[in-house]
Amino acid sequence: MKKRVLAAFFALGILAVLFTGCGTFDREPSGQEETVSTVPFLDLMPELDLSNVRDILEVTTTEPETTTLPETTTEEETTTEPETQPETTTSPEVELGFSLPVMYGDRSQDVAILQERLIELGYLPEGSADGSFGPMTRDAVMNFQKANGLESTGELDGETYRKLKSVHAVTAWGYTQAEVTSLTAFVEVPAEPGHVHSFVPSVVEPTCFKGGYTVYSCACGSSYGGDFAVSPGHEYAATVLKQGSCTRSGETNYTCIRCGDSYNEVTPATGHNYVSYTVSPTCTEYGYTSYSCTWCGDSFTSGFTSPYGHSYDPLTGRCVICGAYR
Ligand SMILES: [Zn+2]
Ligand SMILES: [Zn+2]
Ligand SMILES: [Zn+2]
Ligand SMILES: [Zn+2]
Repeated sequence: MKKRVLAAFFALGILAVLFTGCGTFDREPSGQEETVSTVPFLDLMPELDLSNVRDILEVTTTEPETTTLPETTTEEETTTEPETQPETTTSPEVELGFSLPVMYGDRSQDVAILQERLIELGYLPEGSADGSFGPMTRDAVMNFQKANGLESTGELDGETYRKLKSVHAVTAWGYTQAEVTSLTAFVEVPAEPGHVHSFVPSVVEPTCFKGGYTVYSCACGSSYGGDFAVSPGHEYAATVLKQGSCTRSGETNYTCIRCGDSYNEVTPATGHNYVSYTVSPTCTEYGYTSYSCTWCGDSFTSGFTSPYGHSYDPLTGRCVICGAYR
């Protein structure tokens, strides 16, 4: 703010210099000049409207405050009351209605209550609370633990139990339960008597980290949210940076088309995929096995076997193997 005030004075200073500068043409050069320049410029410009100067200063000094105004008009702001409570205040808890231990394989009312809580947080489908702690419930607990930065064991330990009770527990949709509560809350704006709400859905698209949901709003301003969905996660597009081969490692870049998250993956050399065929030796020629790679065509020959040599019939003088005569 100070800078702006100084800038304003500086600008006026220049005006003053110009003003006095014009005047100096009429004056005779003298030692007086220096002292003139030190006189406050306002005294030299009696015809300048000072109220105007004040206006300029007021405008420039108040400007930064006005720039802080936007931001506060977004739709979410109207529903953030629970959100804005700092984490440091006593964290509100949810009454779970069961106590530990509850373990894999259990069939009990306690398990059913646990399942209802997991349904509420989006980790189990509606109507799936059957009171039986099976693989599906264990997976749900594991996903809950993962989303909440806990070790993903599927076991209902003390830490997991405490987190399940917290309104800051992260739901399957990526929002904390407090956020979901505030986003789904019905925000009622007083309307004309006899007004009948007509809610129009508007989808809030998911991000890589949080699921989408729908805001239903009426022309009167009343609204509520719902229909939360799980985030689709990152959607990576692959770009080959270095083509791998049988003998050379390759490298591929993966970049998320939505958020730009990016990583490279090195794939080790595949090694050759040789197929072989064997040629038997003859009376006069070596046998061998030939290998060639179906991927890169690299080939070599090995496994040589010596020629048999002819086996001549002593009477006919003819080789009994190849028929050649001695
Ligand atoms: Zn309405
Ligand atoms: Zn992403
Ligand atoms: Zn090869
Ligand atoms: Zn022969």
